[in-house]
Amino acid sequence: MRVLVTGGAGFIGSALVRQLVSETHCTVINVDKLTYAGNFAALGDTRFHPRHIFERADVCDFREMERLFRKHRPDAVMHLAAESHVDRSIHGPGDFIKTNIFGTYALLEAARTHWSSLPPGQRAQFRFHHISTDEVYGELAPEDPAFSEDTAYAPSSPYSATKASSDHLVRAWQRTYGLPVLLTNCSNNYGPFQYPEKLIPLVIRNALLGEPLPIYGSGDQVRDWLYVEDHARALRHVLAEGRIGRTYNISGRSERTNLEVVNALCGLLNRLAPHPEYAYERLIRFVPDRPGHDRRYAIDDSRLSGELGWTPRESFQSGLEKTVRWYLENWTWLDEVCARTESEVTRLKPVRQ
Ligand code: NAD
Repeated sequence: MRVLVTGGAGFIGSALVRQLVSETHCTVINVDKLTYAGNFAALGDTRFHPRHIFERADVCDFREMERLFRKHRPDAVMHLAAESHVDRSIHGPGDFIKTNIFGTYALLEAARTHWSSLPPGQRAQFRFHHISTDEVYGELAPEDPAFSEDTAYAPSSPYSATKASSDHLVRAWQRTYGLPVLLTNCSNNYGPFQYPEKLIPLVIRNALLGEPLPIYGSGDQVRDWLYVEDHARALRHVLAEGRIGRTYNISGRSERTNLEVVNALCGLLNRLAPHPEYAYERLIRFVPDRPGHDRRYAIDDSRLSGELGWTPRESFQSGLEKTVRWYLENWTWLDEVCARTESEVTRLKPVRQ
């Protein structure tokens, strides 16, 4: 099987590509523009594997996408390429509109042209799997039930509005043209190789450098946390078993406030890399809240678990400890990524996901 993965040099995409190459017999065509968030090194030895083909390209370039489909004849597409950071979307929504909406449109059209040209047997097997976020559903009050796949869309940020738009386009391509699509909407991911503008790697890095740990508002925003290797496993499972046209929510079953996450990180760091003079909690600083900040996301994944029998392997405790240990052992990776874009990371320090 030949799988075309977009955004395969990003945080989640690289985890997926590493798994597809090491745990399956798939050939992966990895299409990535290598923006600031793309990191070829995140692929490790997979970079040089004979079943990994890297194509540096922009998903917005329809002609180039068409050429890549003709050249590689994929059996499936897993579309992860996106501008993904909410804070950046507030400072500059243009790139989000371009990549997340126009890029998805260009990819859908290239996929449709390719799919239409396939012999009937292969056409029936082809899948276009779109990877999206729980943020399309908007925010929940503390007493609200978790988001289900039927929850109405109510995105709050430019980022989530562009992801919502792309979800609608993908569904429309199935209804209108019959393209066999699958959609997944997942919660906040964490794990190795995450770009350090996101909460968990940023807190680890700042703590170890003795710098403030910024928390928006009072830190009571609730998120569900999904370990990235679990997410990659879920994506593979949905691609193999999911029903055409269906949406599946993916949850880590780990709701936590941002303050709880930062305290858990401090606790792990106090144990695994103690500072000789103080506990890391001392570095916590509350900063003014972000405009339009959603209070709570929570995901009901009963369709994925009930219909497809998938549940996450990692608890939040075990996933977070693995993550902290990984960043401690791969400090040079974190440092190199930060050196590349130090000024930007500094500017965007108050974060959430
Ligand atoms: P990321 O920002 O780490 O990686 C995005 C990748 O896409 C990068 O490698 C980048 O170079 C590439 N890319 C960006 N624009 C491109 C373009 N125009 N053409 C080709 N490649 C391009 O993102 P991530 O955290 O790995 O997220 C992957 C997907 O999962 C995104 O679609 C995101 O919306 C979704 N998602 C992420 C999370 C999360 O917690 N990280 C949660 C829910 C959904």
